[in-house]
Amino acid sequence: MEYGLSIKNNHLYFGGADTVELAKQYGTPLYVFDEQLIREACRDYKNSIENYYDGNGMVLYASKAFSCKEMYRIANEEGIGVDTVSGGEIYTALSAGFPAENIFFHGNNKTDAELEYAIENGIGHIVIDDFGEIDRINEIAGKMGKKVTVMLRVKPGIDAHTHDFIKTGQNDCKFGFTYESGEALEAAKKAIAAKNLVVSGFHCHIGSQIFSTDPFCLAAEVMAKFIKQVEAETGHTVTELNLGGGFGIRYTEEDEPLPYAEFMNMVSRQLKVSCKELSLTVPKIYIEPGRSIVGPAGITLYTVGSIKTIPGIRTYVSVDGGMSDNPRYALYGAKYDALIANKAENPRNFVATIAGKCCESGDLIGENIKITTPETGDILAVLATGAYNYSMASNYNRLPRPSAIMVKNGEARVIIKRETFEDLISKDV
Ligand SMILES: *Cc1c(COP(=O)(O)O)cnc(C)c1O
Repeated sequence: MEYGLSIKNNHLYFGGADTVELAKQYGTPLYVFDEQLIREACRDYKNSIENYYDGNGMVLYASKAFSCKEMYRIANEEGIGVDTVSGGEIYTALSAGFPAENIFFHGNNKTDAELEYAIENGIGHIVIDDFGEIDRINEIAGKMGKKVTVMLRVKPGIDAHTHDFIKTGQNDCKFGFTYESGEALEAAKKAIAAKNLVVSGFHCHIGSQIFSTDPFCLAAEVMAKFIKQVEAETGHTVTELNLGGGFGIRYTEEDEPLPYAEFMNMVSRQLKVSCKELSLTVPKIYIEPGRSIVGPAGITLYTVGSIKTIPGIRTYVSVDGGMSDNPRYALYGAKYDALIANKAENPRNFVATIAGKCCESGDLIGENIKITTPETGDILAVLATGAYNYSMASNYNRLPRPSAIMVKNGEARVIIKRETFEDLISKDV
């Protein structure tokens, strides 16, 4: 097995800990993270910046994938930056002692209050997403007597062959400025001319859960051309390029992810070729992996409750969580692999539809998932849930959000406490 999983005495182990024991001790549903996997992913990316860009770059963890204080502490200890998309994420990072200068602030609709908060706190880079924001940041910075380092988000016009809702590089997308139409150039001119802005470079993020290096290479090529074009038109040379994230992970056997170093290798080659052709110095590179840092490093443990067979149709195996802790199937049909943690070695010859306990027919964790014959009271482990699960969780049906624990060498510690009923009404008046 991979991704920190192993089996002992017919129990599933994760990060060296017996998941059945973890479920007993901490209750279910339970998010479990393997600290070593998270740190290894951070190091792999960091090393690839050393190997392929001579260290002239920085890894930014896209913290929307899993945002909590402990994650920001780990990212900081690993010497990587983070990207954020809201005042709340910035607040969480700063509360964890994360250095403001290593934070990037993204988003297609940042409020004035968020921008003021970011600028006040010296957030390292703000990534501008529309024309209005150029004026707003310039004005806020002016009032505070500050200069703000910014990047502009560019849509390089690339279709990244991923799900419609998670591809963002093509022109019909709410994020960023279009390259093809000249909009991005116009935005660059405007931002460069703004008194209180320092345009350090450009950003693109073409999508998520991408398995091919081609769209990344194409994006790098387009971005190099764009840098040259801006230089030719304005005389302003930018020194930084942020190539975004989106590296795919394995959710099920159908997924065949490339080693992350392979993406870095191919993209760096393309970028170096393009820069040479254009007589550009290779800029400082940022990459923003989110899913691939935490996704495989997390699993969710549930207790199996009702099991309902509809003859000739399917068997619903219901768990004590659902779309409230993992809305990704309901949102875009995301696929997962799962197994019964207390019978981890038994043959997986039972086809289950794993359902949540929410009042929605679409509240499923997945369909046609092969597990061993389930019984009420079993512990079901859903794999690769570390990214976009806790961070997308809700209190639908007033379900308290689960606890998250971090496991390191078999030792577990709580990093997010389980919500209580009191928490649920704490803001009710
Ligand atoms: C979501 C996002 C990422 C991370 O994407 P992953 O697929 O999780 O790697 C990086 N950059 C930006 C701007 C994003 O919006």
